[in-house]
Amino acid sequence: MNPVDVMNPVDSARAVVDAAVSEFGDSLVVLTSFQREGVVIVDLAMGAGHPVSVMTIDTGRLPEATLEMIGTVERRYGIRVERIVPEPAEVESMVALHGRDLFYQGLAQRSLCCNVRKVRPLAARMAGIGAYFTGVRRGQSDLRAGVEVVDRSGSPVKISPLADWSAADVARYTAEQGLPEHPLYAAGYSSIGCDPCTRAITAGEDERAGRWWWESDADKECGLHFAPDGRVLRTVDVLLQDLLNNARI
Ligand code: SF4
Repeated sequence: MNPVDVMNPVDSARAVVDAAVSEFGDSLVVLTSFQREGVVIVDLAMGAGHPVSVMTIDTGRLPEATLEMIGTVERRYGIRVERIVPEPAEVESMVALHGRDLFYQGLAQRSLCCNVRKVRPLAARMAGIGAYFTGVRRGQSDLRAGVEVVDRSGSPVKISPLADWSAADVARYTAEQGLPEHPLYAAGYSSIGCDPCTRAITAGEDERAGRWWWESDADKECGLHFAPDGRVLRTVDVLLQDLLNNARI
């Protein structure tokens, strides 16, 4: 048995963080949206004795409370969080062609918006990065149940030190360390993303039920998750190509 498997969750996560720092050094970053898990990751990384850059995707549609959280974390750790922002010409083109709230029109339009505001700017920034930490946990949704602690299937390597943690583990660490909490948790949110695409949940709902609540459960991730026949992929590809052509005019 791997010694990490018999450690308590905090020691196990620290071991993952330490190993990642040793392997990737300056090429390792924290990518966070400042939910509870993300703040735990920042705290663990800052405690690893090696400066790790902290980055967030500022889509231009974040809740005001998230922007406040960024400042809170910067002051607590004495760091500057890097804001990864979308290409202005692509956003302008998308809004001109489909409207600012296109995501309510269907999965292809929502995927297009996530592509322009999140996936493309992140992919551009991650070029040359060796690995990044995320706060993803297996218990957050069925889609995340198979998340690897260290996922080397792509580049950069994706490391999820909290993969085995429960929501209670996160809450306990947050309280014990006195970590700041995103203000929207107090308003009933359990997963926090862009303002127009996130709502509070009710008792018994899946942790990520408040994300893109108008869609089916199978679609609730930011990246490219499409039907097996590729139908939505082709639709979003066409939409994306249209807006890129429009952005270049
Ligand atoms: S979460 Fe909503 S607003 Fe944010 S990038 Fe995705 S579709 Fe656009």
